[in-house]
Amino acid sequence: MPELPEVEITVRTLKKYIIKQKIHDVTIYNGNLRYKIPTNLPKILKSQTINEVKRRSKFILFKTNHNTVLSHLGMTGRYIIKKNSLKLDTSFYNKKNIIKKHNHLLIRFNKFSIIYNDIRKFGFIKIYKNNNKFSRHLSNLGPEPLSALFNYKYFHQKIKKRRISIKNLLMDQKFVSGLGNIYVNEILYASRINPNTTCFRLKKSQILRILKFTKLILLASIKKGGSTILNYHNSEGRTGSYQSEFKVYNRTNNFCLTSGCNKKIIMNIVNGRSQFYCPKCQKL
Ligand SMILES: [Zn+2]
Repeated sequence: MPELPEVEITVRTLKKYIIKQKIHDVTIYNGNLRYKIPTNLPKILKSQTINEVKRRSKFILFKTNHNTVLSHLGMTGRYIIKKNSLKLDTSFYNKKNIIKKHNHLLIRFNKFSIIYNDIRKFGFIKIYKNNNKFSRHLSNLGPEPLSALFNYKYFHQKIKKRRISIKNLLMDQKFVSGLGNIYVNEILYASRINPNTTCFRLKKSQILRILKFTKLILLASIKKGGSTILNYHNSEGRTGSYQSEFKVYNRTNNFCLTSGCNKKIIMNIVNGRSQFYCPKCQKL
């Protein structure tokens, strides 16, 4: 499932192609996603120009003068760049044998199109007027983990009475937005904190480590183009490589990578989510 780094890479890649580009036309191939693609989307977007593409949490926002398209990639959603001219089309879309029946939407610009392809259909595409607050999707989100708002004062204030585990807290989008299961496991390992630790018991030094490693790990992953698990590619077809840097995620029964530690990484399922940790380095 794409998390913050993968969505950030998607946004950065799309920007190179579609900023200041006028939308020629829009085709809905299959509107069935987590929410149905609005049938008036092609009519509304026709002839509008993309002024901005940005990320908030794991959402992508495409802004025109009048509207904002709000999109989420769900589990397997991706935007793919395709050249319009068939003769010149050496793009990823043609080479890699993307399963065309999973195409949901095509937005055509002068030279390029972007195609939204989603095998498992958990993503979505909605459209709002620019003065709209984008409903519930964005209104309850916590701060961006890479922003200065995600700091000790905020963290400390929020956890005073929380009796949930630190892992569940970091997964809570109202507390901090954009993290998911993969990066939370990695952050807690780097911070040497057991995922089951109850929030209000965290010491100052532990909170500072979580803050530090959240930022470091997300930035390192963005630098590597994100992590490719399942089918993630950026919109030009490049895979990420941060998955080879994982220290605990998917490393069940492999030796812990901390020097001097002879334990194996264990995995258990809590609240339907897998947690990976070293029983020695991340002692409760
Ligand atoms: Zn260890």
